[in-house]
Amino acid sequence: MVRFARCNALLSLAINASGKGCRYVAKGASDDDVVKDMMEHLTSVHQVELDMKANILASTKTHNG
Ligand SMILES: [Zn+2]
Repeated sequence: MVRFARCNALLSLAINASGKGCRYVAKGASDDDVVKDMMEHLTSVHQVELDMKANILASTKTHNG
């Protein structure tokens, strides 16, 4: 079971390192893994230092099949 969250679901106007709309998807086996992955992405690419954990969890979904 893979859990995932999309960057543009959290930061709808986010731009990636190339100046294009960010389509990053954080994935993990658990919610904690997804949060950790996304927090690293938000910090390194978007310089977001806020605690986005609740937002990430709210937009985390599960792949079915
Ligand atoms: Zn992003």
